[in-house]
Amino acid sequence: MNQAATFSTIRTEIAGVSVLDLASTFETPTYVYDGSKILERIDELRQFDVIRYAQKACSNLAILDLVRRHGVVVDAVSNGEIYRAQAAGFAANGTPPPVVFCADLFDRKALEQVIALDIHVNVGSADMIEQLGKSGGPRNISLRINPGFGHGHSQKTNTGGEQSKHGIWHEELESCLALAQQHGLTVTGLHMHIGSGSDFEHLAQVCGAMERSARIVGSSLTSISAGGGLPIPYRVGEASLDIGRYFEVWNATRNRLVESFGHPVSLEIEPGRYLSAEAGYLITEIRAIKKMGANTFYLVDAGFNDLARPIMYGAYHPISLTPRDGNLTRPSQPVVVGGPLCESGDIFTQEEGGFVCTRELPVANVGDFLVIECAGAYGFVMASNYNSRPLAAEVLLQDQRARQVRNRQSEADLISHERIPAD
Ligand SMILES: *Cc1c(COP(=O)(O)O)cnc(C)c1O
Repeated sequence: MNQAATFSTIRTEIAGVSVLDLASTFETPTYVYDGSKILERIDELRQFDVIRYAQKACSNLAILDLVRRHGVVVDAVSNGEIYRAQAAGFAANGTPPPVVFCADLFDRKALEQVIALDIHVNVGSADMIEQLGKSGGPRNISLRINPGFGHGHSQKTNTGGEQSKHGIWHEELESCLALAQQHGLTVTGLHMHIGSGSDFEHLAQVCGAMERSARIVGSSLTSISAGGGLPIPYRVGEASLDIGRYFEVWNATRNRLVESFGHPVSLEIEPGRYLSAEAGYLITEIRAIKKMGANTFYLVDAGFNDLARPIMYGAYHPISLTPRDGNLTRPSQPVVVGGPLCESGDIFTQEEGGFVCTRELPVANVGDFLVIECAGAYGFVMASNYNSRPLAAEVLLQDQRARQVRNRQSEADLISHERIPAD
């Protein structure tokens, strides 16, 4: 465990399946998921009592079905995600809850569905407690707590502190407990999703905050959730998370609560990225190569409509080349990788703030393929139809079989919900 990541800039296969075959069978751009990587990650988390996949990271039905068959449950942050979970075979309720609705508000439809299907709710605001209590009747709920501090460098990904919209402010816990009680709701779970990652000093603070909140809730508590935010290595040399140590810190917290309450407290983990990021690859074809002064551009048939992380967060993705002619010995050169959109920010090699940078990649020809790696989390799920580009295909690889799990959208799909008024 805990080895440094390595990435190669030439790639001929993904999980034993030829990239050239994948590209010719499914065309480009196409997302490919290596099912075995997802299962490896699940196995690394088996120490936790419950592994709850944050499906927003990658919610294709085939992925949800795969994790379900390996004992993983899910959370849902919208009515659509509840619908998906059901379509992938998750029961609406049970122990532990197969689906937990986790949000800071109910839109009207989600509230209706949560009540109709009796789905467990992880509540992120006092208003949710009231709305659920008024229309839903007595039930168990969890509370998501904002402990008053967050973690992370990006304002867009910080999930705690005064700037965050997430969870119930830690000082309002008592009043929310009273409100829950008024409505016949029993608080059985507590949840914090702060994302300490491998910052163990910070993790200790989160666990301390969890313990304080748990003692305020008292012995109705039967489950605590560590949330998600487990990091994965995106760059060469970055270490992977020491999961054993991460578990130990949370487990010690849980054990102290078990001792005080005198009954079992289940420990949940709620990863999104950790399960799916490294399993995902976006295959795209180089369609033009040009020079702009000193810069060489590889222009590919995928854009930020397919993968938004670079433009949204300046996120770094490993990129490799699959030469069409099979000649794997190529010198490398610094290049900028861009997409087809009419938008100057449509660049895969950029840093936060939108600064274009270069990447050392092998010399390429038009018609070669680039594989954008570690793209299995917040990849396809953030795709859009911007510039009227159809959503990409998705393919699941298992035991060297490639099966298409989403058809590429057609141009007809793009306009199928639109009307020109008749008069
Ligand atoms: C997004 C999210 C997660 C997963 O986050 P990752 O960083 O992908 O692990 C877990 N829990 C909640 C409540 C979330 O909103």
